[in-house]
Amino acid sequence: MDTQMLIGSKFEKGTEAEESILNPKTGATILNLPEASPAQIEAAVSAAERAFVRWSRTTPAQRSSYLLKIADRIEAEAKEFAALEALNCGKPINAVLNDEIPAIVDCYRFFAGAVRSMPGQVAGEYIPGHTSMVRRDPIGIVASIAPWNYPLMMMAWKLAPAVGGGNTVVFKPSEQTPLTALKLARILAEVLPQGVVNVVLGRGDSVGNTLINHTKVNMISITGDVATGKKVLQAAAKSVKRTHLELGGKAPVIVFDDADLGAVVNGLRAFGYYNAGQDCTAACRIYAGKKIYDKLVADLSSAVSTIKYNQPDDTENEIGPLISRRQRDRVSSFVERASELKHIEITTGGKPGEGSGFYYQPTVVAGALQEDEIVRREVFGPVVSVTRFSDVDEAVSWANDSDYGLASSVWTKDVSRAMATAARLQYGCTWINTHFMLTNEMPHGGLKQSGYGKDMSLYALEDYTAVRHVMVAHG
Ligand code: NAD
Repeated sequence: MDTQMLIGSKFEKGTEAEESILNPKTGATILNLPEASPAQIEAAVSAAERAFVRWSRTTPAQRSSYLLKIADRIEAEAKEFAALEALNCGKPINAVLNDEIPAIVDCYRFFAGAVRSMPGQVAGEYIPGHTSMVRRDPIGIVASIAPWNYPLMMMAWKLAPAVGGGNTVVFKPSEQTPLTALKLARILAEVLPQGVVNVVLGRGDSVGNTLINHTKVNMISITGDVATGKKVLQAAAKSVKRTHLELGGKAPVIVFDDADLGAVVNGLRAFGYYNAGQDCTAACRIYAGKKIYDKLVADLSSAVSTIKYNQPDDTENEIGPLISRRQRDRVSSFVERASELKHIEITTGGKPGEGSGFYYQPTVVAGALQEDEIVRREVFGPVVSVTRFSDVDEAVSWANDSDYGLASSVWTKDVSRAMATAARLQYGCTWINTHFMLTNEMPHGGLKQSGYGKDMSLYALEDYTAVRHVMVAHG
């Protein structure tokens, strides 16, 4: 197992406080990893600064070929990466191997193509005798900070457009899930010129905080909690850094009476509970029409009660445990508080799973009202609430009545109603008759307190590059 950070071309262990890396399926410690010292962070930023001089002058074709090599190496070691991610996050091995790794490989390949064909305004004589052109140039040193729910995928979403755009990076994985980042660091050191990507370990309030406040860092890219995003903005304000924020979510799912109930139930069973609901786009806040509500609650509850987890044969598992005891207790306390309300019924689940792992039963909370905490706050666990609505205006206003604005979905057989409803939703993404489906060609990112950074797609390359105008006087 790789345990060393990548600083320039050197591999070194951190020298500061140790963090226990846990196996969420058992609660056992996998290993302890020390975090980076201020001097090591400084060395990583300096390595990125030195590398920027040449890397920023490489051609798109050159950077593309590096990204393709990274993709090939991850693909070649897919099983090892998947095993490590499954161990560190508690994810079912098949979910990582068959869902995540192909999407990660495709992310590097997408940006390898995209960087060679960036669109822009045409050059021309907008003032007589002067030719204007638009350039897109790298921003500089990017501090990239990732969460624990999809460690290797978040790394891909952050590294591919940043490096593809000609920037250099100091990357910090979540202190809870650094193992795949450390493995990828070995590959990055072989494939990329020295210092283009550096990987440092540590907690948010120490290493993360030092990075986001570093005067030489030109851009901060973070996926995490809203509270963390606000700290990033405060740090960025001091030296006016560019920020790329991907924060939480609380996705509303509007189910009209005419929806295909079987498809809705199958969809919610999959998209509400995938990754044990630790997903910022999870289909967790259901608004069901008056007529479909009872049958939806009944069918969803019986479908959710069949979700397989904590099976000795991991290939049978559909979801894993939560990432930590703290996260499990947090989810548990949300459901406990909800169940104390008279109007709420827990129709399936509602308790921590058995054993020493951080499991929580897949749960349906029926009869929830718009003002309930379970409807308003991000639970980040295998818990879905269902609320009855009486007309479309009520459903749309409740769906939009949220601090978050990342993802949403609308379920109906009526395409006009679907489009009219989608147009009124204040969310970065609206799916119709599905949920959760992402593709590297399309942008992923939010509105409101979900942040404004776009991941994947050409829009991410725009976020990680600066628009510049160059004008030539004809003389
Ligand atoms: P978190 O905010 O606690 O941590 C995210 C990262 O930020 C970690 O690497 C952490 O060490 C670092 N960090 C924490 N405090 C910091 C500080 N003061 N300065 C610098 N870095 C700091 O979030 P988490 O618990 O790891 O992840 C879960 C959250 O991420 C959820 O709220 C979830 O919705 C969100 N999320 C959003 C998206 C998206 O695309 N919008 C995707 C995945 C997760």
